[in-house]
Amino acid sequence: MKKISKLAIAGISIVLVVLLSFSITNVNLIERRIPIVTPECNSSRVFSGESAYEEVLIQVSFGPRNPGSKGHSDLQDYLKLMLSDYGFTVEVQPFVHKLSNGSSLTLQNIVAKKGNESNGILLLGAHYDTRPISENDEDPEKRNLPISGANDGASGVAVLLELAKLNSKVDPNIGLWLLFFDAEDIGGVYGPYSLGASTYVSTLEDELIPLIKGVIIVDMVGDSNLEIFYERNSHNGLSREFTEQIWAIGSNLGYSSSFKPEVRHNVIDDHIPFLQKGLPTTLIIDFDYDYWHTQQDTIDRVSPSSLQIVGRVLAKSIEVICSSG
Ligand SMILES: [Zn+2]
Repeated sequence: MKKISKLAIAGISIVLVVLLSFSITNVNLIERRIPIVTPECNSSRVFSGESAYEEVLIQVSFGPRNPGSKGHSDLQDYLKLMLSDYGFTVEVQPFVHKLSNGSSLTLQNIVAKKGNESNGILLLGAHYDTRPISENDEDPEKRNLPISGANDGASGVAVLLELAKLNSKVDPNIGLWLLFFDAEDIGGVYGPYSLGASTYVSTLEDELIPLIKGVIIVDMVGDSNLEIFYERNSHNGLSREFTEQIWAIGSNLGYSSSFKPEVRHNVIDDHIPFLQKGLPTTLIIDFDYDYWHTQQDTIDRVSPSSLQIVGRVLAKSIEVICSSG
């Protein structure tokens, strides 16, 4: 994502089982125990920052995950495998981005779905690609290198993967859709920012729109000094109430020193296409990160406790939104 100037902002119009031991007595009066997953809104498991941190480690071990890299395709395979393992239906949205030199990037969004969509849908998204360059690195010679993306990329994905794990034995009473976007961070290098999210929103079926209760985008949430402010574009109009609801959940959980109820940055990220579609959308990002788009965005900058704070706020948000019917 990138920070945008006030001028640029002015130019952007945000048109925005219980594993139920279910006893069945059959005609022969033989009692059988059949595990049944019942619709519900909360997991009995607790979000673990350590477990999410493992997911950051795994992603980083693939190497840089910029489009076209081996790490990028390895991560795609890993995401599909894990999400299927957690009982989600996995859909792939392939798309191609043509470059000015005549070549093209083969890209894909990965969407994992679970639950009862007829009761509403909650979308949680993060970008899984990492930046192909390190334009903010102190060393000019390193600025053409792809980043490791431990925070910018891997942290958001790790939180979503841990949420998927948490819900592996749950059949949510609403549609829980986890969106893993490609090509967020090719902006200014190979094309626009948030290409995957834009592509996804452009293909959202009209009849789904009224069912969507909210969209939560997560990015750069691993910084040890976790301070997440309202992002200006998502603290506006219809999305303002939704954003404040999520921050209030953070406060109720005792995390008001991390979820700060004041506006700070204007950020271009994967939330923008959803805002433009008029959906209640929030962006959870700690944009005060010294290693942004540098070679220093590495695993040692990521804190399990920060991942845990964000993960627990999101787990509670899923529960609250699901329970609200
Ligand atoms: Zn980035």
